[in-house]
Amino acid sequence: MGIKINIETCTGCASCVAVCPFGVMEIKDDKAYVNVGCTLCGACKEACAFEAVIIEEEAKAPAAEGHRGIWVFAEQREGEIKSVGYELLSRGRELADSLQAEPSGRGLKTELCAVCLGNNIKNAEQLIAYGADKVFLVDDPALGSQSEDLYAGALVKLIQEHKPEIVLVGATSLGRSLIPRVAATLQTGLTADCTDLAIDTEKRLLLQTRPAFGGNIMATIICEAKRPQMATVRPRVFAKKPFSGRQGQIIKVDFDKAAVTSKTRLLSFVADLKEKIKIEDADIIVSGGRGLEKPENFKLIEELARVMGAAVGSSRPPVDEGWIPYSHQVGQTGKTVRPKLYIACGISGSVQHLAGMQTSECIVAINNDPNAPIFEIATYGIVGDLFKVVPMMIDKLKG
Ligand SMILES: Cc1cc2nc3c(=O)[nH]c(=O)nc-3n(C[C@H](O)[C@H](O)[C@H](O)COP(=O)(O)OP(=O)(O)OC[C@H]3O[C@@H](n4cnc5c(N)ncnc54)[C@H](O)[C@@H]3O)c2cc1C
Repeated sequence: MGIKINIETCTGCASCVAVCPFGVMEIKDDKAYVNVGCTLCGACKEACAFEAVIIEEEAKAPAAEGHRGIWVFAEQREGEIKSVGYELLSRGRELADSLQAEPSGRGLKTELCAVCLGNNIKNAEQLIAYGADKVFLVDDPALGSQSEDLYAGALVKLIQEHKPEIVLVGATSLGRSLIPRVAATLQTGLTADCTDLAIDTEKRLLLQTRPAFGGNIMATIICEAKRPQMATVRPRVFAKKPFSGRQGQIIKVDFDKAAVTSKTRLLSFVADLKEKIKIEDADIIVSGGRGLEKPENFKLIEELARVMGAAVGSSRPPVDEGWIPYSHQVGQTGKTVRPKLYIACGISGSVQHLAGMQTSECIVAINNDPNAPIFEIATYGIVGDLFKVVPMMIDKLKG
């Protein structure tokens, strides 16, 4: 898409300058001029009485031609495939099946494929158990260090060769760094941090839902003109659903070292030693919020977590205040968690916090305000002072 000014009809009336919400229009030599930063929103076109603003649309349909199938990037670390790969395959299976059933599907099978890059990758056949029809396995010592540009190069090559219509990736540190490179190279769209994915079966479009405007609305984004349609989804947004007795194919692909080079080198990997149990892997999380009042009161949360064998979570204010590291933050700009039990202490239940924990199996909220929004989604609510309730719980559990 692009914007042009027809200088034959432009009168330099400046009505486009007045309406441009981004301030990128100006009048130069009595004609409208578009500066860098135009989003093609169309406000100037609507305001122009002389039809001097032309917004060119790209042809939409042909991009989809020849693209078929859903791919999931199955991330691994030290050869172990990460849970988010299985989660995306479980959802990907449902999406592939709905595309299969599409009326104009012309009887063609919509395959679900996993792509796994790394060195000494273990249990690749598990990807088939979670829904993959095919697994593209690129196993090479050069891919052992999770170098983003090597991964991006290898992934781009595979996508160009096999032309999937959809590519799904976990919104992990690696995924967030790797996949924009892939999307930019392929010149296609990418929707980050989706909280839901569905299919418009009629148009074979991926409906990518994610929070927008600070979490106040949920936007459903489509990529009509380009293929593949690409989305990232945070770990734990979708549940893992293994199938029994599934058959599939593992295709070993050579890594073409000559074709893909890296500008970066991983010197060392330093694990977060403060994080005893990772919240994204924990079955039980005890979280503290601003209701704790001061940093030293987090000890209460840590003690309850210790006696329950739980991980410690937090809402954003304690992280912003420096009471606890960011790796513990749950929510829209923190981590998404899906534990069996989530105990929220002194947390009000803002939409941004709920975005990261509302799919927990059981939620217990402790809050002294009976009208706190957290009680609307809590399985069990305790209206009371956390400084009295939490010590009682610790005593009972120590018991
Ligand atoms: C773009 C954006 C992204 C954001 N991302 C996140 C995010 O990822 N995660 C996140 O959490 N927030 C996020 N926020 C912030 C969010 O909007 C809220 O401000 C935040 O979640 C509130 O944290 P809180 O519940 O701990 O604090 P508050 O809203 O201040 O609530 C404190 C609660 O503690 C209760 N309380 C006080 N004293 C006691 C006591 N003695 N006993 C029991 N209860 C008590 C109060 O009744 C109150 O309900 C984001 C905001 C924006 C704009």
